[in-house]
Amino acid sequence: MVHPADRLGRVPPYLFAALKAKVSELRAKGVELIDLGIGDPDLPTPEHIVRAAQGFLTNAEYHRYPPDLGFDGFRRAGAEYYGKRFGVQLDWQSEVLALIGSKEGLAHLIWAFVDPGDAVLLPDPAYPVYNTQTLLAGGEVRVMPLTEENAFLPDLKSIPADAARRAKVMFINYPNNPTGAVATLEYLQQAVDYCRRHDILLVNDLAYAEMTYDGFVAPSVLQAEGARECSVEFYSLSKPYNMTGWRIAFCAGNRVAVAALAKLKSSLDSSQFGAVQAAGEIALTRTPREFLDAMNATYASRREIMCAGLTRAGLPCKPPLGTFYLWVRVPAGETSVGFAERLLTGAGVVVSPGSAFGGHGEGYVRIALTVPEDQLHEAVRRIGAAV
Ligand SMILES: *Cc1c(COP(=O)(O)O)cnc(C)c1O
Repeated sequence: MVHPADRLGRVPPYLFAALKAKVSELRAKGVELIDLGIGDPDLPTPEHIVRAAQGFLTNAEYHRYPPDLGFDGFRRAGAEYYGKRFGVQLDWQSEVLALIGSKEGLAHLIWAFVDPGDAVLLPDPAYPVYNTQTLLAGGEVRVMPLTEENAFLPDLKSIPADAARRAKVMFINYPNNPTGAVATLEYLQQAVDYCRRHDILLVNDLAYAEMTYDGFVAPSVLQAEGARECSVEFYSLSKPYNMTGWRIAFCAGNRVAVAALAKLKSSLDSSQFGAVQAAGEIALTRTPREFLDAMNATYASRREIMCAGLTRAGLPCKPPLGTFYLWVRVPAGETSVGFAERLLTGAGVVVSPGSAFGGHGEGYVRIALTVPEDQLHEAVRRIGAAV
């Protein structure tokens, strides 16, 4: 008999296995499902990045092990980007670390900071990685509820004193998955002040830095005063440049945290393939702002179609200021999973139950705007008929 580690048992069972099985079953039967379940851009990686990457493949320098912290060029590009985009001057050598995607970095940061019994402050609902990795590392999850009344921002004043005292790390994620909420620099400043006061490492997951609407520009936590004493940020190239499959991101900020993560990673992986890092450098330095603006216009138009359609169907939907997700209340008396199942079987539309992102996600579903407009019109029509 082989026995996986006990710690794997700490990861809660996948509650949505039944929903997933139903998706596969319907697909196998030939039912044409519209998948608004996953947050993976449907648009291609820009051509200037793909072309450059083809050339980088032939560079023999990249065929060997990359430097542990990543190639200088990619890390410099990350620092340069922060300077241009946020007015934040980073020392690329001590404050920027290449990652094999943000997910990898976020997970390993937890292993670099959380000893068994340490408390970790997590938003709920949230991207599931923070929770599962904290549990695997033996940490204690202390939840910060994200509620509509508080604009889906953690209410820092209501964090219990013992949680504040024992917490090693606090995670936030703005623009936010799954709620679409955004945070102002004033809010990020409050979070920084709170974490400095309580000796907590503040982590902002900035996966949706560039995906905002109606004139809102997402700030970096590193713009807040004193942020570098207690904060790191994870900047992923996945969503802004449609590069989810490439696996490229970087961690920026507090040098103790960057060094700790680098130390852990140096005995775990050997950084990302150099050609992918070089492609990431191209993405950061050679992508015109107009590309990001045009993509946001595409998502904004999809957002209008879906929000208007849902509202007509009796599912009120407030257009979010960030991300490509709609966070929609389920009809009174229904659960997240029940409603997601009803949309699946009744309308052939796949959405994510809010409870997949934590207990405080109950009562919502998350709709990803990752299909073209004709499919969204069809989804709206089907949802309208089913509801
Ligand atoms: C998509 C996403 C990520 C994953 O980023 P990768 O760089 O592709 O690993 C991280 N955090 C959030 C909140 C996301 O939605």
